[in-house]
Amino acid sequence: MKLQARPFFDAAGIPNDLAPIAVEPSPMLPGDWRSLRPVVDRGKCVKCAVCWLYCPVQCVIEKARWFDFDLATCKGCGICAAECPQRAIAMVEEAA
Ligand code: SF4
Ligand code: SF4
Repeated sequence: MKLQARPFFDAAGIPNDLAPIAVEPSPMLPGDWRSLRPVVDRGKCVKCAVCWLYCPVQCVIEKARWFDFDLATCKGCGICAAECPQRAIAMVEEAA
């Protein structure tokens, strides 16, 4: 059987080997689908920055006396809550 080479670009000039999501990026942000969000107990936070270090999407924000989160990009994974040595972060359910 003879193999036929596929053209690298389709008729619209889009590469044939891309997944659909790469051709049409979703406009959704993590805040649109997250089921849990982190809430900081400001009285417990000692600004050690462990949550900042571990957050995989770099959405931890430094405030004057505590660390907070950018909820537009937080994906609710809970890593910050698991790693906080002060147990100052609680993961709470998003409102339905
Ligand atoms: S890990 Fe906990 S104590 Fe440390 S900065 Fe973050 S919330 Fe505060
Ligand atoms: S829940 Fe996950 S994404 Fe959100 S701030 Fe914590 S570590 Fe970052």
